[in-house]
Amino acid sequence: MIVMKFGGTSVESAAAISRVAGIVRARLERQPVVVVSAMGKTTNKLLAMAAEAAGGQRERALEQMNALREYHLEEARPLVAKADGPELESLVAGHFHELEELLGGLSLMGELTPRHIDAVASYGERLSSRIVTLAFRAAGMDAVHLDSRRLIVTDRRHTQAAPIYAETYARLGAEVEPLARAGQVVVMGGFLGSTEDGVTTTLGRGGSDFTAAIVGAGIGADEIQIWTDVDGMMTADPNSVPEAHRLKVLSFSEAAELAYFGAKVLHPATVWPAVEKNIPVLILNSRKPLAPGTRIIREAVACANPVKSIACKKNITVVDIRSTRMLMAHGFLARIFAVFDRYETAVDMVSTSEVSVSATIDSTRRLAEIRAELEQIAEVSVLDHCAIVCLVGDNIRYTPGIGARVFPALGTVNALMISQGGSQWNLSVLVKEADVLQAVRALHAEFFRDLDPAVFE
Ligand code: ADP
Ligand code: ASP
Ligand code: MG
Repeated sequence: MIVMKFGGTSVESAAAISRVAGIVRARLERQPVVVVSAMGKTTNKLLAMAAEAAGGQRERALEQMNALREYHLEEARPLVAKADGPELESLVAGHFHELEELLGGLSLMGELTPRHIDAVASYGERLSSRIVTLAFRAAGMDAVHLDSRRLIVTDRRHTQAAPIYAETYARLGAEVEPLARAGQVVVMGGFLGSTEDGVTTTLGRGGSDFTAAIVGAGIGADEIQIWTDVDGMMTADPNSVPEAHRLKVLSFSEAAELAYFGAKVLHPATVWPAVEKNIPVLILNSRKPLAPGTRIIREAVACANPVKSIACKKNITVVDIRSTRMLMAHGFLARIFAVFDRYETAVDMVSTSEVSVSATIDSTRRLAEIRAELEQIAEVSVLDHCAIVCLVGDNIRYTPGIGARVFPALGTVNALMISQGGSQWNLSVLVKEADVLQAVRALHAEFFRDLDPAVFE
């Protein structure tokens, strides 16, 4: 069995979904289970109309909703067999009718809670997964749709829910695995789940990759395939660095680090279930189905290059904590980090000097409270619009002098902080957001001049 996940661009149109049907049909002997994202930019559009409705712009929200319904119908109609036409029309009408009610409710209440955001956002994958199922049937496959909300059980952290693994794996093993083994193609929506009492949740933006990995681990798949719009994991985001190269192979820990530091091609949590069950993850291009992609496996392959890829994470805020009295005092750092911890705010980079500690955070949701608490023990200043540029590679830890190559390469870009990550396979540089593109391009030129053919294309 394999899991095949297709992202938004891979299912954005009738033509794209037909390509997907061809890709899956060519792999039926591997007993695929298919996970799909919402079509195209549907999730963004759903979130926008929820905000319009809650902000009192009901008519605007409904206009956007009608356009989204037309888009779904227009792309889906040519894909579906004549006999399934009425089923398509009624499922689209039914889902949009519910959505309309929901948007009406939001405009009456005038507020948008995380629970409501999840309820609205869920329609993208609920629709796409059903449409793809009908398209697969029209393409001659024995496809069956399963509602992910019955299978992926999560906690209640709406918009960022985490799976409850034992229960989820039990359900996947009991319901999905037998169908796949019997030769049926199960199609599920990514991104969605529900709490134990049945309230819809989502796993966070980009979460369909995570769904694919959870399903893969739950059914004991041989491989988790992430089909997307690029050739694989590249040495940098090819949108910013067009000359980026494909990585043939990468370790789980390198991939996790890249995903965490902004390589959007993989949701940061995707690797965990795969690591646990040691299932290879492949990143593949749905426009080039025969191309080899990137293989992510347990052990890093021997490589002459210390750096495998460069990721970057924008919207970073630096909190500078300064105290001449306290810094060297026993327990001061622990007190500082306890504050970030209490407000559930992850710290990415830290640097300390004689009298100050700087910490970077990517969520400012609780910043006011964090600041107020820290100000009771130290002086605090905050700098926003920063970015972390992160060099990742298993060999970084064995290669001296990487920092010495970073500074000349950066040239006129000011490095505000630099740290060899705790993981030892990352080296991070903090820069102003306005400098990030220049920094990534300069570092890419420095570290990817000569490429080891064992790892890079
Ligand atoms: P999908 O809709 O298939 O999930 P995403 O848009 O989430 O696709 O992820 C694919 C995008 O990730 C690519 O189009 C690319 O711009 C971006 N990306 C960022 N960093 C990298 C990287 N290192 N390698 C490949 N793609 C990357
Ligand atoms: N549709 C969701 C999003 O846009 C999940 C995904 O595509 O992975 O974030
Ligand atoms: Mg994605």
